[in-house]
Amino acid sequence: MEKILFLTTANPSGSLTKQALEALNLSVSLNNALPESELVVGITGPDAAKSAESIGGCGASRFIAVEGEEFTQPRYSTDAAAFEALARAAEASIVIAPATSRFNRALSGVAARLDGRTDTHVTNVEVADEKVRIQRWLYRQRIAVTGTRNQRPWFLLIEPGVGSPFQSQPSNVEIEKIQVDLPDECLKTTVSGEEKKSAAQDTIRPDAALLLVAGAGWTRKQADGEFHAQEAERLIRGFLDATGASLGSSKSLVDLGGEGQPVLPFLTHMNQIGQTGSTPRHKKGLATCCHGEEPHTVGWRFIKERRAINSDTNCGWAHGKADVVYVADAFKVLNELNKRLAE
Ligand SMILES: Cc1cc2nc3c(=O)[nH]c(=O)nc-3n(C[C@H](O)[C@H](O)[C@H](O)COP(=O)(O)OP(=O)(O)OC[C@H]3O[C@@H](n4cnc5c(N)ncnc54)[C@H](O)[C@@H]3O)c2cc1C
Repeated sequence: MEKILFLTTANPSGSLTKQALEALNLSVSLNNALPESELVVGITGPDAAKSAESIGGCGASRFIAVEGEEFTQPRYSTDAAAFEALARAAEASIVIAPATSRFNRALSGVAARLDGRTDTHVTNVEVADEKVRIQRWLYRQRIAVTGTRNQRPWFLLIEPGVGSPFQSQPSNVEIEKIQVDLPDECLKTTVSGEEKKSAAQDTIRPDAALLLVAGAGWTRKQADGEFHAQEAERLIRGFLDATGASLGSSKSLVDLGGEGQPVLPFLTHMNQIGQTGSTPRHKKGLATCCHGEEPHTVGWRFIKERRAINSDTNCGWAHGKADVVYVADAFKVLNELNKRLAE
């Protein structure tokens, strides 16, 4: 019988993030799909009780928690100690956690302590032929793999944005507090402060319905023989403000910034989509002034509806990489779009 442990860290407010609720939803579905199984919820943080109540109706047989100020900081030593204690207390055979920076950093260490195995970048967990099977991506999201493991405990880090979040059904729950004795060495590292996000990161909005990608064409000489980088910035920012879209970029455009050329100053490598960039998940994507090269478009794996604006009829997008290609001047199109959005 599988014992599934859903692990999460609680916010200081006691709420759970959307990403945590997505991983919980997968844990609940797996528990329901197995003929014999048990679901346990494990929480760390300052006020685990509040978080547990918010998901009280998830069908878990136990709610276990490691509470205390020491476990609020995102620190490997205390996180690993707390996750290990919860996994042991639950006698978990499968541990499911959201792929946050905290779990990504600490969970494989916990698996090693328990002689388990970890799979990262997991996009689905299901039961087929009476076996638990996961889906994950390899080689920068180019190959989708379905697989299973005999080794237990099995630790799964669930990618964000691949499933729907568990709909909260608050109810009173009884919490078992798990005691963790921390040696002094575990508290050597402290979080001394937080840095504000850069302006570029402010344009990265993972929950937006639309991704706008800006390519190097925005900073190239245009039909009049001139550069129009400032106009490009005004149009792109105007579009983002009006739509709440997330901003991605091609490698060429962000590289230009590093080379000191006239560029769009709000773009950094954080915005880069592609083989050596990120693979965001949005319902729709609109690529502007970028050519549609394979290493770039590989980052569009999870964009459901793809459109592109390019002045070149022979661009990469027109070779089957986009659902719709507008052969047009992106400056003109965005200008008109922004006007209509303002109306
Ligand atoms: C190993 C490797 C890994 C890579 N990884 C990545 C990656 O992760 N991400 C990534 O982005 N790239 C990556 N690249 C680079 C990638 O192959 C492309 O070179 C890059 O994405 C091209 O950027 P671009 O399309 O913005 O620019 P360009 O190729 O210069 O294209 C600019 C486009 O703008 C169009 N244009 C110009 N003006 C207008 C206008 N007014 N209206 C409409 N269209 C206009 C032009 O027609 C042209 O098609 C990688 C390359 C390699 C070799």
